[in-house]
Amino acid sequence: MNGLRGKNVLVTGGTSGIGQAIAVRFAAEGAHVAINYRRNSAEASQTDELVHQALGQCMHDIEAHGVDHILVQGDVSKEEDVVQMVQDTIEKLGGLDILVNNAGIQIAADSNDQTMDQIDAVLNVNLRGAFMCAREAIQHFLAHEKPGVIINVSSVHQIIPKPRFIGYSMSKGGMQNMTRTLALEYAGRNIRVNAIGPGATVTPINRAWVDDPEKAEMVLQHIPMSRAGTSDEMAAVTAFLASDDAAYITGQTLYVDGGLTLYPDFRTAWSSE
Ligand code: NAD
Repeated sequence: MNGLRGKNVLVTGGTSGIGQAIAVRFAAEGAHVAINYRRNSAEASQTDELVHQALGQCMHDIEAHGVDHILVQGDVSKEEDVVQMVQDTIEKLGGLDILVNNAGIQIAADSNDQTMDQIDAVLNVNLRGAFMCAREAIQHFLAHEKPGVIINVSSVHQIIPKPRFIGYSMSKGGMQNMTRTLALEYAGRNIRVNAIGPGATVTPINRAWVDDPEKAEMVLQHIPMSRAGTSDEMAAVTAFLASDDAAYITGQTLYVDGGLTLYPDFRTAWSSE
């Protein structure tokens, strides 16, 4: 993809699932990658190895462009962590060009039973955290008068309601308008802000159905393309949106969902006939 080689990318929640695939994909495209991890460095070492492998595929380019990758610790729900994490990235990679807001969590419970701690926990990571990372990145882009790109890993649930996951639904709905608002606010200053909207994707966040054949079958029945997505498919679209191939796209969410946002219940004509 055009324009990714040599760029500095920060991926939040890069230690598993979609974030890990995104980090590896950017490395394969010749970008320098900062992988954010929240817990301990043992969790990050697996990604470290995968990124190494990806870098191995384009070894020639690494030597030519000095492609590098680093691990940056930080809890995206904590302002001091976010400030430090972005600063570490800028210092160690020598700048920041692309931010991928990927870190996310969900908590299941009937809405009438959700505690405010549960609601706050989800919003603080998925929405407030993503905003803080975006703010820090934008400050850097503006201070250096350089172009910047932000990709938010949202969800089909920014438009499809998700009962029992009210915090998640609220956070992803908010993320859609955050994407559009930041895109409009900074379009004139060469900063593009877009999102991907993954559908059901095989990652650890979906352990509940991925590891249960009966539940997995139920999930697949609802997807027009009759299969879940892969993290690599999410990473490919993220890289596209961050690349110069998408230079004229801002404020959009690209759904990567096998048709999940197409109202699958209308596959057969059950109304008006
Ligand atoms: P995952 O659980 O594998 O990854 C989530 C990542 O976020 C983990 O690396 C975790 O350590 C990190 N994280 C959580 N809290 C954090 C914090 N406070 N600070 C820093 N990092 C933190 O799940 P995933 O499926 O790869 O999810 C990645 C993103 O994709 C999430 O935003 C999720 O909402 C979104 N998404 C996933 C699916 C899916 O079906 N898997 C569908 C739609 C959207």
